[in-house]
Amino acid sequence: MTAAERAFAAIDGLRDECVAFLVDLVRIPTVNPPGERYEECARMIGDRLGSFGYAVEYVRPRAARDGPPRVNVFARLQGAGVRPTLHFNGHIDVVPAGDRGAWSHEPFGAELADGALWGRGGADQKAGLAASIYAVEALRRAGVGLRGAVEQSATVDEESGGFAGVAELCDQGYLRAGRTDHVIITEPLGVDRVCIGHRGVYWFEVTARGQAGHGSMPELGHNAAEAMARFIARIERELKPRLAARRTAMPVEPPASRSASISLNALHAGQRPDVEQTPVVPDTCVATFDRRFLIEEPSATVRAEIGELVAAEATADGGIRWSVRDLMLVEPTETPADAPTRRAVADAIQRVFGRPAAIVASPGTYDQKHVVRRGGVTDCVAYGPGILELAHRPDEHVRLDDLVNATKVMALATLALVGEPGVP
Ligand SMILES: [Zn+2]
Repeated sequence: MTAAERAFAAIDGLRDECVAFLVDLVRIPTVNPPGERYEECARMIGDRLGSFGYAVEYVRPRAARDGPPRVNVFARLQGAGVRPTLHFNGHIDVVPAGDRGAWSHEPFGAELADGALWGRGGADQKAGLAASIYAVEALRRAGVGLRGAVEQSATVDEESGGFAGVAELCDQGYLRAGRTDHVIITEPLGVDRVCIGHRGVYWFEVTARGQAGHGSMPELGHNAAEAMARFIARIERELKPRLAARRTAMPVEPPASRSASISLNALHAGQRPDVEQTPVVPDTCVATFDRRFLIEEPSATVRAEIGELVAAEATADGGIRWSVRDLMLVEPTETPADAPTRRAVADAIQRVFGRPAAIVASPGTYDQKHVVRRGGVTDCVAYGPGILELAHRPDEHVRLDDLVNATKVMALATLALVGEPGVP
């Protein structure tokens, strides 16, 4: 038997153990926010990796912060040589379950039914963690040698930006160019799809300041809410058609997200709606916008465009003072066409499923931004079991056959990237 055939046989033999491990992971509700039970989940993963021969470390963010402790797992399995190093990364945090009534299974019960495992995190992305851990373990049990090393990290806070998770691993030197050659992030993008990056995001807050006045004599004040309404209308009229016309060459899924976009995500002015109202013209209005931009759009242009719209509004009405505050800016990223991970995962998909891999990009950002920008590792893709459209929704689940097949894809990719020469 070839190394690949022996690995596949080992994966089939490990199926129940892998599923049981995933059940245990889903039953720890690592809900973010606020970041519950991270340490318990990290220890469970670290213990398993330790029993599989890895050197395990727990990595905490350097700066103290409020809330539950942030604990990441970093584990390394040494092969014949120090390099090349293949790093699998998955996040342990999950979004809240939401309305229990919308679920047909207990959100953290990890029930097995209809050939699937049901629960929050079942796909996004504890299935990916289980798959990468058992892919490499199957190679070990099959007696397949590695010429380099495999690392696995399980990190926190991806859903809230990943700053205490993958960003810390990069900043503390665990994941960086010069020691890390290849990175596969096990997000649930579909068993036959390779994800090569994401669009950019610019969150910003616009504040309009006018003058308060009595609601019965509004002409004596200067209404900031009405000014903001005119600014929002200007965005609808002038910016949105321009953004809709810009299309990226990246294969973003769903295709509707191949255009640039802007969304008004929050709007506040005047008195809180839950208190008795008094007649006051609001002197301040704050709006938060979510601008998604394309790899073809320089971020400086994206910001300047907003500045021009604000300046036009200021010229139209001199009684309002405007300010813009940046909340977050993440640059888009795209894996190079000749990147080894991209080819290795695509070839593995072809071999496991007998059809070509789909190459996709994500409309929203994920931890690839940190791997590329902070770690300097450009050979990075995302691949993992689970259906992207089910993420964050009620009745999240992963099909067990998908879990097993994704494990096989990851094992083949590992062989191609850090296996013994000539294997498989
Ligand atoms: Zn995720």
